[in-house]
Order: sequence, then C-alpha cells, then structure tokens
Amino acid sequence: MNNPLALITGASKGIGESVALRLAEDGFDLWLNYRSDHQRAESIRERVLSMGRDCVLLPFDVADSHACATALTFLLEERTPFAVINNAGFTRDGLMIWMKSEDWNDVIDVHLNGFFHITHLILPFMLRKRRGRIVNIASTSGETGVPGQVNYSAAKAGLIGATRSLAVEVAKRNVLVNAVAPGFIDTDMLDGLPLEEIRGRIPMGRVGTPREVADVVSFLCSPGASYITGQVISVNGGILT
Ligand code: NAP
Repeated sequence: MNNPLALITGASKGIGESVALRLAEDGFDLWLNYRSDHQRAESIRERVLSMGRDCVLLPFDVADSHACATALTFLLEERTPFAVINNAGFTRDGLMIWMKSEDWNDVIDVHLNGFFHITHLILPFMLRKRRGRIVNIASTSGETGVPGQVNYSAAKAGLIGATRSLAVEVAKRNVLVNAVAPGFIDTDMLDGLPLEEIRGRIPMGRVGTPREVADVVSFLCSPGASYITGQVISVNGGILT
C-alpha cells in the first residue's frame, strides 16, 4: 500500500497497456480499466503482479457515468490515485456527410464524457490530498484537421481545451493536468489504414510505438515533471501541428 497508485483507462491493449507496464516499472500499483478484453487484461495483471506491484482490474465503460461511479466510489474510500491516465477510446471514421449521429455521439461519449466521468469522481480526493497528475491522451487529430475524423477531432480538441482549463483551476492545489497527443502509433487503431501512404507523411518516416507514448506519460507522472501543467506534448515523429 506504500506504492503510488495510477488509474489507467482503456488499458487492456495498445497505448494503455504500455502505459500500465511502464508505470508499474516506475513503482506504481495499478487500477486497470478496460471494456471487454478480459483475457488480455488478466495477462497484463499477471505481469504487473510479477513485478511486485498490485493491480486491480476494473472492466467498465467510461462513457457510462453510472458504471464509472459503481466501479470507483467504493475503491476511492480506501485509496486515492496519484495519477489518472484518461486513455480509453476508439474511432468511428467517416466523412461528415455520411456520418451517423450515433457515430458522432459514441466518439464524443467515450473520449470527452469518459474524461469527465472519471476525472470528476477522482478530482475531489486529489484536491484534498493536494497532489496528483492527470494525463489525457489526445491526438494529432485534435490539433489539426483530418478528413473522415470530424467526430474524433472534435472530441480530442475538446479534451485539449478541458486539459488547459482544468490545469488552471487546480494548479494551486498541486494537481497537474497535461495532455499527450500521439500521432500514428502502432496499435489496433491503425488496422485498415494505408500505412505506406501514412509513413510518407511522417517526417521520421515511421509510425510510433506504444512504448514511446508511455515513456512520455511516465515522465509526466514523475517528480521531474513537477512544474509542468496545462501542456500538450506531441509524440508524432515530427508532424507539424
Ligand atoms: P486500442 O489499441 O484500440 O485500445 C483501446 C483501449 O481502450 C482498449 O483497452 C479498449 O478496451 C479500451 N476501450 C475502448 N472503449 C472503451 C470504453 N468505452 N470504456 C473503457 N475502455 C474502453 O487503441 P490505442 O491506439 O491504444 O488508443 C488509446 C488512446 O490513444 C485512445 O484515446 C486513442 O484515441 C489515442 N490515440 C491513438 C493513436 C494511435 O495511432 N493508435 C493516435 C492518437 C491517439 P477493450 O479492448 O477491452 O474493449
């Protein structure tokens, strides 16, 4: 119970999985949220336990405020996470003219309302303790225009705005709020995209790894980042935003 605690949403695979393993290496116990992939989450939990850290699996939908409260209220009576990584998400790409309203709503719900539900529950406890780190996983897509991603760009741009405003609200209580904006990262989210064409648009000529994002999240949760708040750190191989 002496280890610091981190809650990571969407941590059964991809960037969230790498963040979980990286923070466990840093000495964090974990609350590991995901939605459906129990088998993969269990294998991450076993790896974290083998590193000598605690790991509680929390399968729930971050878009569902009731589910968030049910999963977290009781746990928060016992422990307050030092770090919260709002990472859960998915895309529903398509040109606006053909976009169904459910594809708009689902994407806003998971990225933006999910951030609100989780952060709103944990913030009072962090403020009381006068310490904490909140890292929101945004996207290059929230910084520039991307055709086919009006819903996703809007959600991620909203998350960046929320990051900056919340950072100002809670800075005096030593709760630091930042965003990390990945470019193209090698996860299931890239499935079906034209990778050759994408590589040509990245100055470094390759997509990033989840670990390269996790290393930046790790830094933002470390003592070395104690004077950084309200920032958006791009991890995108040099794409100008
Ligand atoms: P991924 O590999 O598809 O993993 C997504 C994770 O989110 C999974 O663990 C999934 O859980 C979970 N999840 C999805 N919907 C959820 C919900 N409603 N409630 C709780 N968990 C949910 O995706 P990724 O590439 O790692 O993306 C992670 C974050 O990085 C996202 O916010 C994404 O927008 C952002 N990002 C990714 C890239 C990229 O190129 N990959 C670039 C920029 C930003 P289950 O699978 O268990 O259901």
